[in-house]
Amino acid sequence: MSEVMEHWLDKRVALSPDALAIETPEGEQWTFFRLQQEAKLFAKKLANVACKQKHIGILSGNSVEMVVAFLACTYIQAPVVFLNTRLTEKEIEKQCQAADVDLLLTSTYYRSKAKQLSTTSYTFNQIRELETMSISLPSSIKMEGLCSMMFTSGTTGTAKAVMHRYKNHWASAVASALNLGLLSTDKWLACLPLFHIGGLSIILKGIIYGMPVYLLERFDEQIVHQAIIDKGVSIVSVVSVTCMRLLQLLGKQRYPKNFRCMLLGGGPAPQPLLEKARALDVPIVQTFGMTETSSQIATLNEHDALRKIGSAGHALFSASLEIRKNGKQAAVNEIGEIVVRGPMVTDGYYKREEANLASFQEGWFLTGDLGYQDEEGFLYVVDRRSDLIISGGENIYPAEIEDCLLSMPTIAEAGVVGIPDPVWGEVPVAFVVKRDGALTQDDIVKHCRSRLARFKIPKQIFFTDVLPRNATNKLQRHQLKKWIEERNG
Ligand code: ATP
Ligand code: MG
Repeated sequence: MSEVMEHWLDKRVALSPDALAIETPEGEQWTFFRLQQEAKLFAKKLANVACKQKHIGILSGNSVEMVVAFLACTYIQAPVVFLNTRLTEKEIEKQCQAADVDLLLTSTYYRSKAKQLSTTSYTFNQIRELETMSISLPSSIKMEGLCSMMFTSGTTGTAKAVMHRYKNHWASAVASALNLGLLSTDKWLACLPLFHIGGLSIILKGIIYGMPVYLLERFDEQIVHQAIIDKGVSIVSVVSVTCMRLLQLLGKQRYPKNFRCMLLGGGPAPQPLLEKARALDVPIVQTFGMTETSSQIATLNEHDALRKIGSAGHALFSASLEIRKNGKQAAVNEIGEIVVRGPMVTDGYYKREEANLASFQEGWFLTGDLGYQDEEGFLYVVDRRSDLIISGGENIYPAEIEDCLLSMPTIAEAGVVGIPDPVWGEVPVAFVVKRDGALTQDDIVKHCRSRLARFKIPKQIFFTDVLPRNATNKLQRHQLKKWIEERNG
């Protein structure tokens, strides 16, 4: 790979300046040319307070001005640290320190939150009011250079700053296109936060592919639904809970023919959800990936979707994956840890030597996820290693029990964790959000009895109005464990 590339946005503008880059439900329409002009102008103003190599934090909800600020940082060659707006000031403070943030940029909405932090902060508006410096901006990108850092979702409780080099983002965008293909009519809807890789990667793909991005501030099922129906959106990235809401809303309607991909990732895909999607002709493309792999690393092709329902497919072109058990490659259909390799995989967490030593071995990244490959090499993700429940020597995967619970139409959401047990070591307990008020614990146990081995039946069932989820709507099982600890004093 050549070490230097023309700046992606400059190249895009040279190729298709008037093509649509970003569209919003509020009616904003930005061409690549306008995006480049605004990003360069912002860069020349930002240069008053920042310079090359400084770490610039961005604290903002999804918006075009956030995208402009990010691109401006690429022009002044300052790595961006994306911060999760849903965290408390204390948590953000910690992340700023962990990632050595020198300066913080925020939207007006998060201004007061930013003011609580010890890092100097400016709103996007304040930067726009600064003088335009007469500097020349580099027209190339060093592929080895650090483009951005973002924290893992903290689903298991330990968010770490993942370093994304330009080469990682590039490899990810190319690998995705080699798999999904690219149509001149494509429009990708982004409703995941841009401070997570599932969101940011869409913006970068848009520039590299020359494809419009339909950008939402946040997930809203009505807006996403409408955008698919009559705004020409052809691809949407979702997680299981947002996918479920969309299918619920779809009812007897059908999406138009040009809608070709609902890219489902970020967590386990419950079987009932996949079956419902199939019944409604929704083109679900299951994918496995993580912050560390700069988004997808394995994806199920559309033509295998029915034959291999529940699988996350094969590793994308340029990536490899293996299943390891006790340090050796696992047999076909044997569950072990998923390890991955490829140019989209990060070379490490920022200043986390211990975590790096534990997670990287001889060029492979140890994902901490459990899975198996069938006789044709299709990957099935089973669960996270850290969530595995071992009960009386038997392995229990919480996702399997959650699937069983979600197959009850009266259950809207379910979360399962293990709790200590004096006899069995651990036993599974379930948290359930009802769809129907009449549902009882007995109904649930009865349902599970006919579908699950005895030791997998939840020993306790708690009803709750909401489940703890992070900014990408992923279930935080470690919070459920905390709930139980608090309950038991
Ligand atoms: P943290 O690492 O801080 O605990 P996180 O792992 O949730 O948070 P992300 O990088 O956003 O942070 O998520 C990646 C994880 O999501 C994967 O490691 C895996 O556990 C889960 N995941 C992604 N895709 C799938 C899938 N298709 N099936 C099951 N799990 C998946
Ligand atoms: Mg993780």
